Amino acid sequence: MIKNLAKNISKSAAQSFSLEGLVKRTDERLLLPFYHSVTDRKPLHLKNLYLPRSIDQFKADLDFLQKHYTSISLQDLIEFNGKKEGLTNNYFHMTFDDGLSEFYAVVAPILKERGIHATVFLNSDFIDNKELFYRFKASILFEELQDEELLKLKYAEVDVLDGLANEVDTSFRKYLENEQPYLTSDQIEELIEEGFTFGAHSKNHPMYKELSLKDQIKQTIESIEFVKTKFNLDYSVFSFPFTDDGVGMEFFNQINELTDLTFGCAGIKEDSAKNHIQRIPMETNQVGKDIIKAEYLYCLMKQKFGRNKIVRE
Ligand SMILES: [Zn+2]
Repeated sequence: MIKNLAKNISKSAAQSFSLEGLVKRTDERLLLPFYHSVTDRKPLHLKNLYLPRSIDQFKADLDFLQKHYTSISLQDLIEFNGKKEGLTNNYFHMTFDDGLSEFYAVVAPILKERGIHATVFLNSDFIDNKELFYRFKASILFEELQDEELLKLKYAEVDVLDGLANEVDTSFRKYLENEQPYLTSDQIEELIEEGFTFGAHSKNHPMYKELSLKDQIKQTIESIEFVKTKFNLDYSVFSFPFTDDGVGMEFFNQINELTDLTFGCAGIKEDSAKNHIQRIPMETNQVGKDIIKAEYLYCLMKQKFGRNKIVRE
């Protein structure tokens, strides 16, 4: 509640601050925007979950970012993380979760044209349209049944969605075949050739705080190993499905040796977990400039109270 209130205040107040002033006062020069999809059409599996950026909105975000920040590669980001404090220039690295096909069809051509680096995080069970994320199933069924309860179902309740689909004659298998929501291995290999980088995003996108530590580790290690081996990668990065909220220090201690960097999406924030960095969610109905400035202002407010660091138990 208070967090939302503070965020809303910072959204309206941010407009009267200059970006340069905010960057200087927070000393946060590394920006990590985070998206899922960019599309002018809303496929059913996304339609009832969140608002993807349109192509025009996305290009406007990039115009703003390129004006004030320099794009860096994942390799640079891995190098930078240890010495984030000493940065004198502004940098950004684009990230995309869930391994969606729009990255190949829409996003990559735009980024290539502008020379912008990006990393895509893949769910190992979904690559090649082998399986569908349970939230996407909920969005597809909601379109037909219009029942809000569908959108509240949890990871452990995926059987309910599969059962309902059977009853209303909806085939997720056919949906996967026709719609091809996910990147294929061939597309990923082509994107790697072009310089894009890839990481893991768990096997099948559970909410980590609902899992035991053992299952958190299993989802993480197995998805990382799969992505690294299949695409022959010499680096190892991971972004948390949904949120890293509630994930304890013991988890980070256990995976520390296996990853170069891990990513959350709590905005511009420090984190007590080593090699773990937070990103800015960009899928709201605001323009990118306002989203980013509001994040800076919120960060500044938290810094004043010494509370801009996520401390893990
Ligand atoms: Zn995700």
